Amino acid sequence: MKRIAIMGGNFSGIVVANKLAKRLRWSVAKGDVEIALFDRSPKYLIHAMLPLITFGSMSERYAVGDKAELLDSRIKYFFGKSGEVVNVDLANRTLTLADGSKYSYDYLVIASGADYVPEEVPGLLKDYHTYYTLEGALELRNILQGFNKGTIVELFVEPPIKCPIAPLKFGLMLDDYLRDRGVRGNVDVMLLYPTDHLHAQPEVNKLGKILLEERGVKYIFNFSVSEIRPEEKVVISDKGEKIKYDLLITIPPHRGAKAIRDSGIGDPYGFVPCDRYTLQYRKGKTKYDEVYVIGDATALEVAKAASVAHYQSDVVVENLVHDIAGEGSQVRYKGETICPMLTDLYTQHGRGRAWLPWWDYKVNELTFITTRFGWWFIRAFYLSLPLTMRGLA
Ligand SMILES: Cc1cc2nc3c(=O)[nH]c(=O)nc-3n(C[C@H](O)[C@H](O)[C@H](O)COP(=O)(O)OP(=O)(O)OC[C@H]3O[C@@H](n4cnc5c(N)ncnc54)[C@H](O)[C@@H]3O)c2cc1C
Repeated sequence: MKRIAIMGGNFSGIVVANKLAKRLRWSVAKGDVEIALFDRSPKYLIHAMLPLITFGSMSERYAVGDKAELLDSRIKYFFGKSGEVVNVDLANRTLTLADGSKYSYDYLVIASGADYVPEEVPGLLKDYHTYYTLEGALELRNILQGFNKGTIVELFVEPPIKCPIAPLKFGLMLDDYLRDRGVRGNVDVMLLYPTDHLHAQPEVNKLGKILLEERGVKYIFNFSVSEIRPEEKVVISDKGEKIKYDLLITIPPHRGAKAIRDSGIGDPYGFVPCDRYTLQYRKGKTKYDEVYVIGDATALEVAKAASVAHYQSDVVVENLVHDIAGEGSQVRYKGETICPMLTDLYTQHGRGRAWLPWWDYKVNELTFITTRFGWWFIRAFYLSLPLTMRGLA
């Protein structure tokens, strides 16, 4: 029997598991293949909805649910201590779980995403508000409902982050939200970026700047934060620049999963190096062809986005089916990326508009048209993500 282990089961892990279960259904039925998914949590979270939840534009009930309900019945799954991987031994093809048990695999899919480490920014935990978690989005929703006057600073600490377009779209929607509440005249909005651009795609960067400037949203580039002083309500850069705030909204630094860092198989940030086309594990001269990496867990230069993971899932699944069943052919990930860009919030006064930039390793010429159709399309896309996770798209 061939055993496929999937480490991490949120968006990427669930999509891969479900697609594999369908493609390899006869092999699973005959007992030739086992598909096992490991995750510390039994609940899924659709992060893409978090900005809309923060602005009260989507209910949180669409964003969370039971993973077991999405998983094909042919998949074995383990949650809690028996699903939490604490060590990955690539040389011996073995996972160690938090309950002390071990799982030996023939093939491994690493889909363990990214962890947040706000504690690495001095002072941040004493004044930490973020829309990058569900709890944070719900807390911010309450705070923003009562915020009438002062300065809101959105701090992007360092790349890479999930959805690199999120700080920009959040800034634009925040402007609309405050206008709709009739308090924008009393509230300054400022974005602090560690980079010299709003987005690595030049067209997104160019148009993002135009939109922010049109709306009077300020932004500062190359802002490398060294410290937060909550008692003074200031953010301090490594050059000594001080930015005052009344409300600080932070996108925390990201790291690869702790188990990846502890096992020493990632890059210095704990993200997992792999071939940019085949997604097979590659670290310097070390190669493990039976190990695939997908989604936010990869150290690839592509965006950490569910759309990326969706494209990558077909590559991982096709190649695993090829490796195991000798069917089909090997396929390559070409860098396909979609970053949904919500430019205007739908409110009593706002129209709701969005744009769907797409690019890959070779093509990066984007034509900018933000439309009302885009807004409804992206909402529908978000709401259909559980179907995508079931492997139906
Ligand atoms: C605010 C925000 C907005 C976004 N907007 C969009 C958008 O509009 N469009 C888009 O495409 N993407 C968007 N994204 C990005 C998208 O949510 C992520 O790319 C996607 O969640 C990646 O899925 P993943 O499964 O690779 O990683 P994750 O969702 O991080 O899941 C990783 C899983 O691994 C598990 N895990 C970790 N360590 C272990 C361990 N040791 N043992 C077992 N399990 C473990 C975790 O519990 C988790 O379930 C957004 C993200 C955020 C935060």
